[in-house]
Amino acid sequence: MSDCADVIIAGGGIIGCACAYYLAKRGCSVIVLESSDHIGNGGSSRNGGGVRQSGRDPRELPLAMYGIKNLWPSLSDELEVDCEYHQDGNLRLGKTEEHINILRGLTTRAKACGLEVEMIDAEAVQSINPYLSKEVAGASWCPTDGHANPLTTTLGYYKTARKLGVRFITGEPVTELRKIRGKVRRVVTSNGNIYEGETIIVAAGLFSRPILNSIGIDIPMQKVMLEALVTEARAHMFDQMLGTAEADFYGHQTKHGSFVFGGTLGLEGFTRDNGTPVTNSLAASSTCRGIIKYFPMLADAKIVRTWAGWMDLCADKVPVISPVDEAPGLIAACGFSGHGFGIAPAVGYNLAQLVTEGRTDVNLHDLRYNRFCAKA
Ligand SMILES: Cc1cc2nc3c(=O)[nH]c(=O)nc-3n(C[C@H](O)[C@H](O)[C@H](O)COP(=O)(O)OP(=O)(O)OC[C@H]3O[C@@H](n4cnc5c(N)ncnc54)[C@H](O)[C@@H]3O)c2cc1C
Repeated sequence: MSDCADVIIAGGGIIGCACAYYLAKRGCSVIVLESSDHIGNGGSSRNGGGVRQSGRDPRELPLAMYGIKNLWPSLSDELEVDCEYHQDGNLRLGKTEEHINILRGLTTRAKACGLEVEMIDAEAVQSINPYLSKEVAGASWCPTDGHANPLTTTLGYYKTARKLGVRFITGEPVTELRKIRGKVRRVVTSNGNIYEGETIIVAAGLFSRPILNSIGIDIPMQKVMLEALVTEARAHMFDQMLGTAEADFYGHQTKHGSFVFGGTLGLEGFTRDNGTPVTNSLAASSTCRGIIKYFPMLADAKIVRTWAGWMDLCADKVPVISPVDEAPGLIAACGFSGHGFGIAPAVGYNLAQLVTEGRTDVNLHDLRYNRFCAKA
């Protein structure tokens, strides 16, 4: 079988799978190289499922808005899999005056970018979600936000891309990129295999950094652990995505009734790193303390599983989604900084446009790889 394709993608997470799907749909031949034995092994199968626009940096908000308007609503039909997408809004909750001020700032900035988001009072919060603590003083409310199932969505892209002829090769870690006559064309793996393509997309999460370094490009990213938990199933309560002003936790109730919550302990820097993300024994109890303050009635909900995943935290907390001037043929799509799931369909769709038409519906200029360079 040929090791050549129109596009070679390093990384089989949701970004690599979505790019592969939209490219194949446009008639490109595609090979995806995944280092582990499993598609979606990184953050793509471990995330909290938030598909939100509110609380986003204005530089990536247009991608989030594009995906929610044009791609997410029909994704289950398109991929012939239940992505469990709910577009029932996002409540970002506050209890104190300080919280409300934080939420007002976020709301004002998002409104200025054209997002439909507003501040609501305690009574309005209770009318949207009567299960919340009466201590909630107000919230930001974005009715077009939502959530989805990360696993079915990632695997939905994978399976549908395969049906369109995309080759996925697992256990194939990319180590190096090589140029031919000034253009990046070759991808070398640790198994000694060489793949060749007209376009190379590097979408390997935080491991994109060493791959890009092999051709002299550096994107400042660091490894940060995120943790999440899932409870036993409960009777259906609500469909909104929830978060807080202080970011003590975020989460939602899934289709079959369990609650998926994520939170940050603040001690992640001290976590053991044995090559795979290992949960810290303090994280679940710390996150639950935050949850119970807002959801007293979940105090006795049993936790059935906790897990962790790496986030590829970019220096300025927004991703790099960009062609690389010094390396024609190369596109970097990494540094999603803990919020890449919600924008993945828009990233895949727009990068497929970039490869096949040389243009994108969403202007990606603010997400360029060289924004970190000192200005001459
Ligand atoms: C606990 C947690 C909660 C989160 N919650 C949310 C949320 O609610 N909403 C949201 O939008 N985002 C969330 N995120 C972030 C989101 O999961 C990521 O931004 C998104 O999955 C990034 O996708 P990706 O394909 O770039 O990366 P990944 O899923 O990490 O995929 C990269 C792939 O590249 C592979 N790879 C690595 N090195 C190589 C190599 N050398 N060669 C080939 N392949 C390689 C990896 O094995 C991996 O499969 C969360 C993340 C975590 C960990």
